[in-house]
Amino acid sequence: MLNFYPGPSKLYPEVRTYLTDAYEEGILGAPHRGEQFVQLSRTVVGSLKRRLNIPQDYYIFFTSSATECWEILIQSLTKKKSFHIYNGSFGEKWYEYAKKLRSEAEGLRFDINEPMPVDQLDVSTDTELICFTQNETSNGTQVSATTILNLHNRYRDTLTAVDATSSMAGLNLKYIKADIWFASVQKCFGLPPGLAVLVCSPRAIFRAKQMNERNHYNSLVFMYEKMLNYQTTHTPNVLNIYLLKRMLEDRSFIKQIDIDLTDRANELYEFFGQFTEFKLLVENEEVRSKTVLALEANERLVEDIKKRALHHNIRLGNGYGPWQRNTFRIANFPAIGNEEYEELKRFFLHYYA
Ligand SMILES: *Cc1c(COP(=O)(O)O)cnc(C)c1O
Repeated sequence: MLNFYPGPSKLYPEVRTYLTDAYEEGILGAPHRGEQFVQLSRTVVGSLKRRLNIPQDYYIFFTSSATECWEILIQSLTKKKSFHIYNGSFGEKWYEYAKKLRSEAEGLRFDINEPMPVDQLDVSTDTELICFTQNETSNGTQVSATTILNLHNRYRDTLTAVDATSSMAGLNLKYIKADIWFASVQKCFGLPPGLAVLVCSPRAIFRAKQMNERNHYNSLVFMYEKMLNYQTTHTPNVLNIYLLKRMLEDRSFIKQIDIDLTDRANELYEFFGQFTEFKLLVENEEVRSKTVLALEANERLVEDIKKRALHHNIRLGNGYGPWQRNTFRIANFPAIGNEEYEELKRFFLHYYA
């Protein structure tokens, strides 16, 4: 089965071996306060920094999902309000959660064919956290490094948090240009669901300590205090942390992965731009995602394409949110091989050219 679903997505084939190795090494039944786990956790933190170009002085935490990160950040870094800039379902959901926890949270929606409108932002001075989604998995758009830099320059004194769930471990993100980044591992990391990585700047941790919010098992200060000893507040997903360690050791550095993914994204956009029955959902090339492509057609054709593909053992991604029925999505994740995209292209040429 070829799997182009944008999460949970295709696993690295090596995961099969890592799984049995984890069993053999006895890590899965080891206590999470013991030396074996601490050693594993320390190694993974080091590998994440080295392999993904995360600054040495940033802090890394393990959580169970990106959704959990949304909640942790609002709980532990805002007393009054966050500001959310979004153009799709994931960014909007984060904003909806924020409003439930802090009723004054504010949001600004922008068009999927426009860059994130940094110049037009009106973020009040009592805003504690600016939130946006680097790669909006629901519609196949992304916020460019330049736009993130502009935001950083315009709001230097406000903490910024970035949902990078479908780009971390695929793109060479400039972590220094924002305070908080997070991603769950069932997208670009090519691992099974149930683990997320939360990356925080020293400034973000300083703020968390100042706020000292201690009402939740996943309060950021608790996580920080445990992580000083490479431990977690609760029994973590040891298996997935182990898989993450092995995956990071075996992969290239992020700079190379980014180059390869970008090349392949360009090829895929060129290829999928040539059809007449369906078209790329995002017209503005500048804001197209490098890791998730969204294709638009009438609802019947979308159904037909997905069904026919499945019949040929190709799993395409369903549309999401408002684009659920009139789009399908294709992941461009590192765990998927070039030859698999060649097969995908042959399928489309055969039936839809
Ligand atoms: C998949 C996804 C999420 C949700 O991830 P979970 O691990 O299910 O919480 C959040 N944000 C983005 C951008 C995503 O792609």
